[in-house]
Amino acid sequence: MEDLHIENLTKIYDPHSNPVIGVEDLNIELDEGNFLVLVGPSGCGKSTTLRTIAGLESATSGNIRINGEVVNDQKPKERDIAMVFQNYALYPHMTARQNMGFGLKMISDLSKEEIADRVEEVAGMMGIKDLLDDKPSALSGGQQQRVALGRAIVREPQVFLLDEPLSNLDAKLRAHMRTEIKELQQNLDITTVYVTHDQTEAMTMGDKIAVLNEGKLQQLGSPLECYHQPTNRFVAGFIGEPSMNFFEAELKDDRLVNESLDYPLSDARLDAVEGIDDVVLGIRPEDAEIVATVGDHTVNGTVNVVEPLGSVNYIHTDIAGRERTIEVDGNQYADEGQQIAIRFPEDQIHLFDQESGDAVYNPEVNDETVARTSFEGGASGMTSD
Ligand code: ADP
Repeated sequence: MEDLHIENLTKIYDPHSNPVIGVEDLNIELDEGNFLVLVGPSGCGKSTTLRTIAGLESATSGNIRINGEVVNDQKPKERDIAMVFQNYALYPHMTARQNMGFGLKMISDLSKEEIADRVEEVAGMMGIKDLLDDKPSALSGGQQQRVALGRAIVREPQVFLLDEPLSNLDAKLRAHMRTEIKELQQNLDITTVYVTHDQTEAMTMGDKIAVLNEGKLQQLGSPLECYHQPTNRFVAGFIGEPSMNFFEAELKDDRLVNESLDYPLSDARLDAVEGIDDVVLGIRPEDAEIVATVGDHTVNGTVNVVEPLGSVNYIHTDIAGRERTIEVDGNQYADEGQQIAIRFPEDQIHLFDQESGDAVYNPEVNDETVARTSFEGGASGMTSD
């Protein structure tokens, strides 16, 4: 049985005076132990979804089921969930120990000793035993976040809800905490919904990710499904860093044509765009390559800026007046102002219907790669040759 089921969830704020859609007709099913990341730009409905699961907002329509039971009418504290907030929300006058035990004292009938034991055990697991007698003001951001996570873990809830829990940490600590939270979640095997606007967190932490935009689910799939087989242009542009480059073009006979492109299509790609006049060609920076000679699948560009990252270089290139990004090996360099030919290998391009934004062709991927983190009821299966 599913552990958490978001069923046709719609939330409209101020429905009578000034209706604003928070989230619209959202459907997501999670099995026990799943780690779902809700990701999307600011205002796409992530917090609304999380807060509705928690019971902090009421659903306008649709259901939230936890362990099969509709919990719409239950108060937050009656739902078997624990939430971790971005700002930690620790009580400043309480020690870490008191903060961690407080929720348990309120919601359970465990004895003082049992609570104390559980807090010690979780603090040990989180490496914060030495901090238990400190107040939040004496703790660093990372330590406060560990206490906040520990407070959620001691409750042993059915579902964890985490709302941008790493946003206040510096980049290095954030990267460290990503793996720490992922490991903890795997060990505890508690169903988790994690909200972030950061696609890197989504890619690295989720077994499933739900990409939202303007209150609507764009794709539900494993991170690699969303990366390799985006269902539409929005997902293709949102997942992957640096973002996919898009070229709007007209289909003329078997070629995609615009001011910078004259790109012949063959086989499955040509079949996929049949009947579509306005097409968008998508190419990821890491799939484009600088070549010595101009050919059928190349475009010309002028290097604007080179960003060296050590293992790779990002070559920001002007192609017909718009800046595009190409990722090359760290030892391949280009000079500012240099004219270069860039090849978009035909077996790496993505094609979209310009009008609807839907993906009509994604490159073939090794099924095992995607299946490794795949799940039932995932993204709509895109066909490729
Ligand atoms: P996210 O968490 O992805 O940034 P939210 O769920 O906070 O997005 O917001 C989704 C939409 O709902 C936005 O348009 C936002 O302005 C609106 N919204 C959120 N909370 C309220 C509220 N309390 N009253 C009115 N509109 C709201």
